[in-house]
Amino acid sequence: MAFNILQSIKAKSMKRLLLLALLSFISLTSFCQDYRWQQRVEYSMNVQMNTEAHQLKGDQKLVYYNNSPDTLTKVYYHLYFNAFQPGSMMDVRSRNLPDPDRRVMDRISKLSPDEIGYQHILSLKQDGKATTYKVEGTILEVTLAKAILPKTKTTFEMSFEAQVPIQIRRSGRNNREGIAYSMTQWYPKLAEYDFQGWHAYQYVAREFQGVWGDFDVKITIDPKFVIGGTGKLQNPEAIGYGYEKPGSIVKRPNGNLTWHFNAKDVIDFAWVADPEYTHDRKQVPNGPELHFFYQKNEKTAQTWSKMEDVAVKVFEFLNKTFGKYPFDTYSVIQGGDGGMEYPMCTLILGEGSQAGLNGVMAHEVTHSWYQMTLASNEALYAWMDEGFTDFASEEALNSIYNEPVTHSGNYASYFGLVKSGLQEPASMHSDHYNTNRAYSTAAYSMGTVFLHQLKYLIGSDNFYKGMMRYYNTWKMKHPEPNDFLRVMEKTSGLQLHWYYRYWIQTTRHIDYGVGSVVSKEGTTLVELKRIGDFPMPIDLLVTYKDGSKELYYITMNELMGKKPVEDQSIKRTDAEVWPWVNPSYILSIPRDTNEIATIEIDPSQRMADVDRKNNLLNLTELKPYTNTVK
Ligand SMILES: [Zn+2]
Repeated sequence: MAFNILQSIKAKSMKRLLLLALLSFISLTSFCQDYRWQQRVEYSMNVQMNTEAHQLKGDQKLVYYNNSPDTLTKVYYHLYFNAFQPGSMMDVRSRNLPDPDRRVMDRISKLSPDEIGYQHILSLKQDGKATTYKVEGTILEVTLAKAILPKTKTTFEMSFEAQVPIQIRRSGRNNREGIAYSMTQWYPKLAEYDFQGWHAYQYVAREFQGVWGDFDVKITIDPKFVIGGTGKLQNPEAIGYGYEKPGSIVKRPNGNLTWHFNAKDVIDFAWVADPEYTHDRKQVPNGPELHFFYQKNEKTAQTWSKMEDVAVKVFEFLNKTFGKYPFDTYSVIQGGDGGMEYPMCTLILGEGSQAGLNGVMAHEVTHSWYQMTLASNEALYAWMDEGFTDFASEEALNSIYNEPVTHSGNYASYFGLVKSGLQEPASMHSDHYNTNRAYSTAAYSMGTVFLHQLKYLIGSDNFYKGMMRYYNTWKMKHPEPNDFLRVMEKTSGLQLHWYYRYWIQTTRHIDYGVGSVVSKEGTTLVELKRIGDFPMPIDLLVTYKDGSKELYYITMNELMGKKPVEDQSIKRTDAEVWPWVNPSYILSIPRDTNEIATIEIDPSQRMADVDRKNNLLNLTELKPYTNTVK
């Protein structure tokens, strides 16, 4: 009996233990899932393009997976084409900015009814039941027939019609180089819902934040048009135009052609159509097949042929340095109004100089890493999108052209913005900056400098390891700033959130200077000054008159450690920590002052010091030092 009682007590407590373990497992797993869930979409679209009226009719079936812990009673779609109407928010915004985009200016206000863009919803059902909806500007607000419970899916069936606007910005017809249709932001696109809530922004300037998912798109169009776009063509032997396998026979049906594209794990779908496209193909070794679509003429024939070879090299460099491109095709398409990235393709203007064409192509291709794979919200974190892209594409071209990596153009534009007094924090929502200059410098230049300066903080080796780890950890997701920082912290073992706060969330500036030098019994005391209100660790290069060099590394305590030695060819001496509260610092160099030629803060010029004039002290230009005399 006693044995049995003991048994039953044991069994009970075992059960309790098991239950406890199970409960904590459930709460732990649901916590993990809930913490970074993401929604999912599966679009099937069937579109009829009327190339005489420049209008299209479409049916859209959208399976929406609510992976959130929330019950949704509403959903929102973007209707981007509605921005191209006089009086739209994009129009008013452009006419009220001190430095509007030259492509927009007041052009929207002058569009006639047959030149405007629109997207009209003809019907919208949820799981067969009618929904109620209203349109405000470029946002469609849908009140659901039935709430979508957490971890369930629902199916929307919509029919819509649209008019393609005269090209003003990104999408539209008849671009300035005569490309017929740049079909971007062309379909009602579900807004993203994430842990921050809905991202149902009006289309004012910036447009990217999409839900991850799959697209199956059929476009029926006049057979004289050639289409390039997102995804892989499913019926190449019925289409031809260079999509077919070399040597195979193309059997086109009579009448209009239906192009069938499929794309998996993307955040958007774009396409371009023109009757005069030349279609070239190139294979990236161990990478995707590249497609090029352009109107071949005296302005493009030579430059595109050369650019195609550079494109292959850009893919090779990025694959090796920043992570492997996840799709098996990519298309560079003449179209749009400059350069704009989409999943698995880009639209670029095609008639510019060789350098310009290569540069735009490289930038847009690089967006396949920073936006189309690491899909950060560009409205909230433009610096993670444009900045990381500019940074990586510059490094790709530097490598291909065999140039030093300096990112000096982006430093110069940042310094210029600081001088102008127009700077706003890089954490501003992209559409809300007071000037386009403040936006673009924060996004492109400060984003680039953020990374190059991060190399300075954690060391070059850590930096590139971290970039690869970031890609592999966060691909096909929506990384946030903190996700990037955590990867860099784990890779380097250093603390970095202070750097992000100062650089991205404020407009504070870095300024250090070399102060006085005192010679004392065979040693030299150098005073360094923190003039700005942004603390940083210091690389200080001392060059001796005998030509030898020594790098003094003065870490800052917020970093909680030291970066590894970056350059083995120069002796590095680790000096005492500089507490960030201290406005100045005395460095003791155990050499006679008369042996020193120059003392230089940040010789690699990766620190964005807004006044570099006081960074270098040339002692050979001063009078010889005598002991104990300043
Ligand atoms: Zn870009």
